[in-house]
Amino acid sequence: EAEKTDGTGGKIVMVTNAEFPPYEYHENNTIVGIDADIARAVAEQMGMELEIQDMAFDSLIPAIQSGKADFAAAGMTVNEDRLKNVDFTDTYAQAAQVIIVKTDSPIASPDDLTGKKIGVQTGTTGDIYADDIENAEVQRFNKGMEAVMALNQGKIDAVIIDREPAKVFVKENEGLKILDEAFTEEEYAIAVKKGNTELLDKMNAAIKELKESGELQKIVDKYITA
Ligand code: GLN
Repeated sequence: EAEKTDGTGGKIVMVTNAEFPPYEYHENNTIVGIDADIARAVAEQMGMELEIQDMAFDSLIPAIQSGKADFAAAGMTVNEDRLKNVDFTDTYAQAAQVIIVKTDSPIASPDDLTGKKIGVQTGTTGDIYADDIENAEVQRFNKGMEAVMALNQGKIDAVIIDREPAKVFVKENEGLKILDEAFTEEEYAIAVKKGNTELLDKMNAAIKELKESGELQKIVDKYITA
């Protein structure tokens, strides 16, 4: 068995937080989703065996930095702060932070979040944005779904989270809606260790191929129905 994890052959280790449908979630004891399928396709293109490890979202970047993992594919938004600690591949998805509220909520736009109790997943961009809302009380959860449960129970007034998982969570829980006005637009990319240009170049080549062949769209369509 090959033991290399430097992206030059053998096995490649991906880390993710599998609480983020449809990008990564558990199904029959395996991690499935858009990111898992993309990673499998990328690993295949590189001729490497893929191993996926599940961990807390805010542990992903440290795992890359310490070399415990080769890359993180986790619906991870590219931002300036993270670029100081990791390198990102070309982006592979458009995303947005949206606001979930109860259907009878007086909150109708991002401006109405002032002074409200807002639930987020720890360490996400939703967490960062919520922190900037005037007088808001931010409650942090390990899983996005836990924030949604707290909203359902009336413990918080709103949840800021990525659009696609928001759609899944709202579908699974009655009495919730997503506000039309998104909080921000953003983009997802795969994170690798800073300076690992060899792996970055290979992954970018594989992502390009997946985009051009239509395979990437096929993966997205498998998990997101319009
Ligand atoms: N896109 C968000 C971020 O990068 C959330 C990702 C996630 O929870 N998996 O922070």
